[in-house]
Amino acid sequence: MFKYTMTDADRQKLAGFIDLADNFLTSGYKSGPIEYIFKQNDIKTNSFKSLNSSQESDSLEKIASEIKACKNCLLAVTRKNTVPGEGTANPLVLVIGEGPGAEEDRQGRPFVGAAGQLLDKMLGAINLSRTSNCFIANSVKCRPPDNRDPHPEEREACAHFLQRQIAVLKPKFILLVGVVAAQCLLNTKDPVGKLHGKFIDYKCGDLTIPLMVTYHPAWVLRNEENKRPVWEDLKKFKSRIDS
Ligand code: URA
Repeated sequence: MFKYTMTDADRQKLAGFIDLADNFLTSGYKSGPIEYIFKQNDIKTNSFKSLNSSQESDSLEKIASEIKACKNCLLAVTRKNTVPGEGTANPLVLVIGEGPGAEEDRQGRPFVGAAGQLLDKMLGAINLSRTSNCFIANSVKCRPPDNRDPHPEEREACAHFLQRQIAVLKPKFILLVGVVAAQCLLNTKDPVGKLHGKFIDYKCGDLTIPLMVTYHPAWVLRNEENKRPVWEDLKKFKSRIDS
């Protein structure tokens, strides 16, 4: 695949285009320059494929503080707080969602809104919880406005944080909830309907971590009947953990 690393000049130009488009799309004039977003950091390309084992010096705290300072994409402009993730340091299970919603953005914590409460219940039903044996993270660490899906460049800019979290956490299992997490980690365009309920070997340096995809709790909230396939997936997940 062709990969192009943008130069500072490219980024300035792009920022100018975005500013221009923004002025056209919004009725009032918005003069705030957005070039600063691109000044300090080099955009790090998605390197899930080239992941090696965790750097000795890396830590969850270091990653969280880099996330807090991150201005690698435009979500940095609209976020209230960054949401690095939370849970136990040596988790049995790493649960990965899509990105923060309004409540998560407000609190700086993952899955604390309605979908999060359901996620906690779903996990609780198979003896998992963020306070005892899970870490909960998201594919992107800042809220996409209006709960839209994160754009490809936002996923790309954020990917190395999740990659490093996985390398530091070394979870025994990974549970991906929703299509965005599946696309971000598995580099696939397949829908959850095709991916869910199966174990996939996820390679992280010299570790192979069994991973399962299931539906997002927000999808379950939309229709009671959606509970059944998720419950079937979780039962399979639990029986693998127990074995
Ligand atoms: N949905 C997600 O995918 N993540 C959150 O943190 C909240 C809602």
